Amino acid sequence: MPELPEVETIRRQLAPLVEGRTLRLRIDDPRWCAPLAPAEVAAAVDGRRVERLGRRGKYLVFELSDDVCLLGHLRMTGTLLYDPPEGERYARVRFDLDDGHHLLFCDPRRFGTGELAVGADALERFFASRLGVEPLGPEFTGERLRALARGRRAPIKAFLLDQTKVAGVGNIYADEALFRARIHPLRPAGALKRAQLDALRDAVVATLEAGIGAGGSTIDDYRHPDGVQGSFQNEFLVHLRRGEPCTACGTEVVKFVAAGRGTYACERCQPRPRPRAARR
Ligand SMILES: [Zn+2]
Repeated sequence: MPELPEVETIRRQLAPLVEGRTLRLRIDDPRWCAPLAPAEVAAAVDGRRVERLGRRGKYLVFELSDDVCLLGHLRMTGTLLYDPPEGERYARVRFDLDDGHHLLFCDPRRFGTGELAVGADALERFFASRLGVEPLGPEFTGERLRALARGRRAPIKAFLLDQTKVAGVGNIYADEALFRARIHPLRPAGALKRAQLDALRDAVVATLEAGIGAGGSTIDDYRHPDGVQGSFQNEFLVHLRRGEPCTACGTEVVKFVAAGRGTYACERCQPRPRPRAARR
């Protein structure tokens, strides 16, 4: 599933190709923009210029003229391809650009979404209830992470996956960041010490930046707009490496369920929390 590094890779590749161009949408799958009707979304977007292609968390943000924003989320299997060859399957939406090129949103499982934010401040309001701190922004400090984690009893893995706390981290980058910070995924977020949360903040940033540097991770359907796959899956330290030796200590990487997701860790480098003593 595309996470922040995958969406940022797409944004960086597409921005110079779409900024300054006007858009026209052809929505072939109404589920993409439900509950809005395809005609309603197309009417808001068609003929407007892309002022900027931005990103917030895992959302790709087409900032259009007249304070209209089109917000795309790739969810499980979405990819946004630039001038793909004929015969691309699972196309749901086509974005025609005024220079004759086009984007095709392909999405086998059809969970990807398109939403609108119209008017000044609409974008801020859209994200206010959905997304927490942007991990590659200046506001993501150790102090901020400590404030967010304070009193939270949820396992730190679940905390990291909660988009309303830290935006953009998903299953892959959570596992990799927790390994780098030497923190077991099942430790309660609020029980982590100051130094651990400072280390985790640095590990989240380092992991996301490494992911972007490798063009993201291709495990299933994710591709760059030019069809090329990411390569960060070749650099995973623990994720998907069950039974393989830990790169730091040689102990076998284990897999278990945390926050409802398949989770990977080295339980020597990341000691499992002791079961709480039974209360009398
Ligand atoms: Zn280890």
